[in-house]
Amino acid sequence: MASTDVVIAGGGPVGLCLALLLAEAGAAVTVVEAERCPTRDLRASTFHPPTLDMLEPLGITSSLVAAGLPCPHWQVRLHPSGDRAVFDLGAIAADTAHPYRLQCEQWKLSDALRAKLAGRVEMLAEARVCGFVQDDAGVTVTIDTPDGRHDRRAAFLVGCDGARSAVRHALGLAFEGETYPETTILATTTFPFEQQLAGLSNVTYCWREGAGNFSLLRVPGRWRVSIYPREDAPIEAQMTPEALDASLQAVVPRSDPYEILESRPYRVHMRMAARYAVGRVALAGDAAHVNSPAGGMGLNGGLHDAFELAAALSASLAGAQHGPLLDRYDRRRRPVARDEIMSQADRNRSRMRERDPDRRRAMLAELQSIAADPARLRPHLLRTSMIDGLKRAAAVD
Ligand SMILES: Cc1cc2nc3c(=O)[nH]c(=O)nc-3n(C[C@H](O)[C@H](O)[C@H](O)COP(=O)(O)OP(=O)(O)OC[C@H]3O[C@@H](n4cnc5c(N)ncnc54)[C@H](O)[C@@H]3O)c2cc1C
Repeated sequence: MASTDVVIAGGGPVGLCLALLLAEAGAAVTVVEAERCPTRDLRASTFHPPTLDMLEPLGITSSLVAAGLPCPHWQVRLHPSGDRAVFDLGAIAADTAHPYRLQCEQWKLSDALRAKLAGRVEMLAEARVCGFVQDDAGVTVTIDTPDGRHDRRAAFLVGCDGARSAVRHALGLAFEGETYPETTILATTTFPFEQQLAGLSNVTYCWREGAGNFSLLRVPGRWRVSIYPREDAPIEAQMTPEALDASLQAVVPRSDPYEILESRPYRVHMRMAARYAVGRVALAGDAAHVNSPAGGMGLNGGLHDAFELAAALSASLAGAQHGPLLDRYDRRRRPVARDEIMSQADRNRSRMRERDPDRRRAMLAELQSIAADPARLRPHLLRTSMIDGLKRAAAVD
């Protein structure tokens, strides 16, 4: 039976990042990916400052920055008045080498990671981890491929296989939490909102007077509009080209229809695995936790998992006992997912769903006072930029 140090189920951005970190540490890695070709679906677009700091030594940050849009400020805004609270990330310039959010599609990260991995790890495409058995010395992983079913022996198996993780299911771990009732719509357009809405940031969360709220997230050459749809009509009816155009016309009215390049509905979940590791099998990324995309933290948190887990696995492969190290991985990353990422994303989602004009005004006034007060702005940005969560995790023994 062929053997390797670590089998990673899932060649999404978290699995690929973990693979690169392990390869850098000298481990033999097999990445098993269910899809035949890399996907470019509409998912993450925001990278937070500490993630850019962490990816820098891998030589990834410079290519991401070249392919994305640095966003030195973000804002919460009342539409159409334009009254806004603007958060300037320059206030945390002493805390990070990258005091900006980077707006860049997640597939560009995956492409950059794959380029660095080429020839260094075994990549199986159109292959699916479908089961495993673990013992004291390792894990025997069963992989379905177009050529049939094969077993691979490894010291460790990591499930980076997304929210529906087969690895998590096979471990029998609950995915505790809830699925929110609403569906959100994401649509991209080439329309230059920045030329029509004064003082727009590349990341802008908008409350719309008298109607549904939306976010404007800019990536190179296009804007992504995240629409919080009406609750009185089925989602299918709000996904037709005419309905999507009407949603965008309500943001900035124009005589021509909008050019809509792509669109997708998505459900929002807030769930976390009951444990991040059992024996020699661990979870990372969406397989371990999912949260509302509001605030752009899911992928960032998954990448932070990968760094912590890579350190634990590398030390184990070098001879340290894996049990305490994987326990510490769980103790460091699970509370951060629960108390920092999921709760902050939940607060962001609630803010975006607020429709009461008086409560919005009060919230905006509070946000404006935070943005204007350096003593409150820095702590706010350290929390929302995920720096606090990483420090909290590092302090856990
Ligand atoms: C609309 C939207 C916007 C978002 N915006 C942001 C944002 O701005 N910032 C942010 O940080 N996060 C954001 N997120 C979250 C982010 O997209 C996810 O957190 C991220 O994709 C997780 O990466 P992953 O590698 O853990 O999982 P995935 O990207 O889901 O990758 C899992 C991989 O595993 C493969 N796979 C599945 N099962 C198996 C199996 N049995 N064997 C082998 N392979 C398997 C799949 O094919 C897939 O390639 C957003 C999400 C959505 C939906």
